[in-house]
This record gives sequence, C-alpha cells and structure tokens, in this order.
Amino acid sequence: MSGLPRLQLPGNRPFAPRVSAFTRPFWEALGGGRLTSTQCQQCGIVSFPPRNLCRACWSRDVAWLDLAAHGTLYSFTRVHVAPGAFLGDTPYAIGIVDLHQGPRLMCRMIGEVDTQHLDGPVEMLVLQYQDGPLFGAQVCEPS
Ligand SMILES: [Zn+2]
Repeated sequence: MSGLPRLQLPGNRPFAPRVSAFTRPFWEALGGGRLTSTQCQQCGIVSFPPRNLCRACWSRDVAWLDLAAHGTLYSFTRVHVAPGAFLGDTPYAIGIVDLHQGPRLMCRMIGEVDTQHLDGPVEMLVLQYQDGPLFGAQVCEPS
C-alpha cells in the first residue's frame, strides 16, 4: 500500500497538535501516509478522533485500525475571515467528510470544492508541513 497522497506545504503547521502517548501512533501513522483511528473491540464503533474510551459503550478495549482513504463530502464551508495564522490562505474551504467506516470528520479541503461536489467522493490527503503532518481532503476528479 503506497499510502495517502502527500501534499508538501511550506512552513510549520499553524496550530501544531499536542501529541500525547496515546495519540502518538496516530501522528506517526499519518506521517507514514496512513489515516488511522480506534475501533471499540466490544461494540465495533469506530471513533474519530482516536479515543481510548468507547463513546458508545464506554469500553476501554479499543484497537487501532486504518481508515479508508476515501469518503463522501457531507458539507463544507468557505472561510473568508480567518484566524491570524490562516490569513494568508483565505478564502479556503473546510469540509465535513463521512469516511466509509462510519466516522465523520472535519478537515481542510484542498483544491476546488463547490456545491456540485456535495455527496460526492473525496480522497484523504497528508498535508506535509516542515514540522509534521496534518490531514486534509480533496474532491476526486471524475475519471
Ligand atoms: Zn464500544
């Protein structure tokens, strides 16, 4: 498996994540091109972001799994007035993506996105900054 497409971006992440012992495997996998999260071993619910406690049945019996590289664009918003760290990027889009295993996540959309893309396929991306990775998504081009 070659992993998620990687987009090189200049500089450091605007708000670098705080990495804990629990979330370190997530960030290391993302750096390696894999989007991962946790799945409850009791009821099967996949959480995003990763959790060490199941949000459905409260079990602590969770395991890491690889998430799908593709999802469906549920919604998006275009940001014109941004926090200072993102001023150079406006306007940009933030999407809500439903991954095939169930989790719904919010992330930066790269490239063109418009209402015609709603309910359409998106591909997850690694946004590779100098100080580490973040994740994003882009609309899949029709083939
Ligand atoms: Zn559970």
